[in-house]
Amino acid sequence: METAQPPVMLSNAQIADRLAGLAQLLSTQKENPYKVKAYHRAAARIRSLSESLDEMVREEADLTRFPGIGDAIAAAIREIVLTGQLRKLETLRSQAAPEVATLADFPRLDTRRVARIYKKLQIGSIEELRTRLESGAIESALGGRMAQHVRQGLSEAHAMLLYRADDVRDAVQEFLVEKCGVKEVQVTGDARRRVEVIDTLSFAIQTDDFGAVVARMQRYGGVLPVLSATADTALFSLSSGITLRLIAAPPKQWGLCLVQETGSARHVQELEALKGPLSSLSGSFPTETSLYRKLGLSYIEPELREGHGEIALAQRNELPTLVTAADIRGELHAHSTSSDGVHSIEQMAAAARERGYEYIGITDHSQSLKIARGVPAEELWQQIRHIDRLNGTLHGVRILKASEVDILADGALDYPDELLRELDYTVCSIHSRFGLNREQQTERLMRAMDNRYFTILGHATGRLLLKRPGYDLDMERVISHAQQNGCFFEMNSSPDRLDLSADNARKASEAGILIAVNTDAHSTGELGLIRRGIDQARRAGLATTGVLNCQPWHTLHDLFKR
Ligand SMILES: [Zn+2]
Ligand SMILES: [Zn+2]
Repeated sequence: METAQPPVMLSNAQIADRLAGLAQLLSTQKENPYKVKAYHRAAARIRSLSESLDEMVREEADLTRFPGIGDAIAAAIREIVLTGQLRKLETLRSQAAPEVATLADFPRLDTRRVARIYKKLQIGSIEELRTRLESGAIESALGGRMAQHVRQGLSEAHAMLLYRADDVRDAVQEFLVEKCGVKEVQVTGDARRRVEVIDTLSFAIQTDDFGAVVARMQRYGGVLPVLSATADTALFSLSSGITLRLIAAPPKQWGLCLVQETGSARHVQELEALKGPLSSLSGSFPTETSLYRKLGLSYIEPELREGHGEIALAQRNELPTLVTAADIRGELHAHSTSSDGVHSIEQMAAAARERGYEYIGITDHSQSLKIARGVPAEELWQQIRHIDRLNGTLHGVRILKASEVDILADGALDYPDELLRELDYTVCSIHSRFGLNREQQTERLMRAMDNRYFTILGHATGRLLLKRPGYDLDMERVISHAQQNGCFFEMNSSPDRLDLSADNARKASEAGILIAVNTDAHSTGELGLIRRGIDQARRAGLATTGVLNCQPWHTLHDLFKR
């Protein structure tokens, strides 16, 4: 056995890259897809660990205590640390065709998709891939989603969904307190405002020795490169691809620092328009409240600090009391085993009751959506009767008879009116023909809203964060049409949708439209995604009065009648 000791300590990122490279090459073999997924998942997990795996291996610590790392992956990590390589990866790489082998340097590129592009465009290298991406050839030959995948796979700059950044936030925070001995730590910036995609994770800290914190931080996750540092700020490049920013502030200016670091540029600019630069204000501001008070403002919740009119409201003490997860009375978008969910209607109802909900609407997919096992009309008739019987026996929670009805290409709804009439309400969504132009897509939605059984517009723009932009819509027309027709919008809580955007939700709410904060749960556990939707609803400035499912069922019952 070769025991060539690697000269330097490996960072978790380097270890993760090798596991991801292995996963990528395994996927070109006829390898079990679960195994491939397991390596990808372990690599992602490792990127967000604060402990150094290199150190742990040398101390013979048990790596399998981390979720997602089983015996096989732990053995692979040990091999990487102790020998500097992974024999299986080297073997596969030497057997692979050269155009596949080079992909291992870009572990986020999917080999099968790249193979399709290579074939279609008759190319065979990363350089050509990059050129064809820039010339637009990939997009025109294989579509926007493919181009987006390549762009992400090739890019060095990274961004991360907020819910994943929250895991990194927790790990960094723990490291700062336990390993760096900081006295106080507060996440600031986009993550504190709950912006849905994060590229920099910022923290304000209190410490007597900033230099020592910076030095210690460089051991985070094994090795953490410093990008730049001054007497009280430092930037690091996290292995997950995002930037980590630290700023130190003394206790007496803690509140000032938090306000400066948390607000968007526009929020801070508008504050400075009141009494000049924040840093030259006289006095000390240990809390944010003390700073806002000095400026003649009431406290502004972090999610509102965007420069969207919150300062004028704070001057008049008219800021909304933002909705919280505890205000939610029920769920209005949930799937069951009748379509593509994993739990039965009864199980979903029991989970809703456990959460203290008064109602849960079962919104399985409609008949045309075959890939999601859409419910045929006759089965939906049976489901309606089944739910009526269940409601006769249930206590504490009411099951609402509903459906996630496809909006067809011409704007028609996917069930006949006589069936829709029997439902308590509908969530109507677009799941096909994303490519229609702005005018066509807008007309399609407005035509659907003309149906009196259209209740709530599901995931309004169809966006998937970091994957695909939403379809093109004239949102102002859609909002005013919804308002005239008595239709509602949803805030979809899936962390990669969060659709409506906060801006559109704010506009809809200002037009007087109530918004449902829905999880689109496909399992009982996913009902917990509600806090993601709540984050976004708060960014939109919603109070309980603006949220549909903060209302009791008897109110909804009246609101849903058209
Ligand atoms: Zn849907
Ligand atoms: Zn759904």
